[in-house]
Amino acid sequence: RQAEFTRLRGVDAVTLDGTRIQVLTNAGLAVDLENLDATGAEGIGLFRTEFQFMVSEELPRLDSQTALYKLVLDTAGDRPVTFRTLDIGGDKVLPYLETEREENPALGRRAIRLGLDRPGLLRLQLRALLTAAAGRELRVMFPMIATVDEFRAARELVDVECAWARRRGRALPALLRVGAMIECPSLLWHLDALLPLTDFVSVGTNDLFQYMFASDRTNPLVSDRYDPLSPPLLRALAEIQKKCADTGTPVSVCGELAGRSLEAFALLTLGYTRLSAPAAGVGPVKRMILSADLPAARRGMANLLGSSSASIRGELESLARKLNV
Ligand code: PEP
Ligand code: MG
Repeated sequence: RQAEFTRLRGVDAVTLDGTRIQVLTNAGLAVDLENLDATGAEGIGLFRTEFQFMVSEELPRLDSQTALYKLVLDTAGDRPVTFRTLDIGGDKVLPYLETEREENPALGRRAIRLGLDRPGLLRLQLRALLTAAAGRELRVMFPMIATVDEFRAARELVDVECAWARRRGRALPALLRVGAMIECPSLLWHLDALLPLTDFVSVGTNDLFQYMFASDRTNPLVSDRYDPLSPPLLRALAEIQKKCADTGTPVSVCGELAGRSLEAFALLTLGYTRLSAPAAGVGPVKRMILSADLPAARRGMANLLGSSSASIRGELESLARKLNV
């Protein structure tokens, strides 16, 4: 298997019916960068910037944030990188950052909520990103957006930082793309308002699933109780994909789902063409893509989405087997 994945590194991910799929990888630390070449991923679909903060003993200064982002962009070269702004707070407590104790950290002041409440923190990070990407493309997205206004406010901070840099005669990115993560269920019913404001979106299925099923992803008593391959989650994903296609908004999936073959197969049948997987998932997912016949798979999936079962894993496995995926 490993030899096969190595051979697939240089092979484009195209389904049997000729649909080109972009397979990216998730990363968070400098050591992850070697996975780009090792897996043959086409870029980084999710760079989790909080990892640098979590392994650091003090708040990373502007220059060390800038240095990491530069290294990431230099190493990626022509391959696209999407930086996700800080997703800390809640259960990701930083000892050097004073925050309140919260009863329900997963529902607490995490990610963009903390960033908007402490704009100095987020602005510093945006400044580092803008500096690191001077003269090249910068793709940045905000985690845990729950309302359209939160996205507007976060995007405004990008504008403020751009203006700040311009006033000082600093070089800006040649291309700036600002996106939102879709991981709060509230957004599902406000995509019509959100999508026109975004340059792209990425679906964080880990959180979207935990919030849809009200089941803590870090609590082993409930985290495996429900199956992501369930009609409710898959229908939600189908809806997101459709709205993005209708508005011409580029969309990817960057949760763990995208790195598991059967789950990724389900995503393809829903119309997704951009997946960002953990490094270990890139090879297996690519292998699945090369054997997938989407029109036939889509017909099979359409029937399954109407099922009243909590999971359609078994049916999807049969479908994949029948189609030799
Ligand atoms: C997600 O929620 O699916 C996601 C990709 O973000 P994280 O796992 O870092 O919360
Ligand atoms: Mg998340």
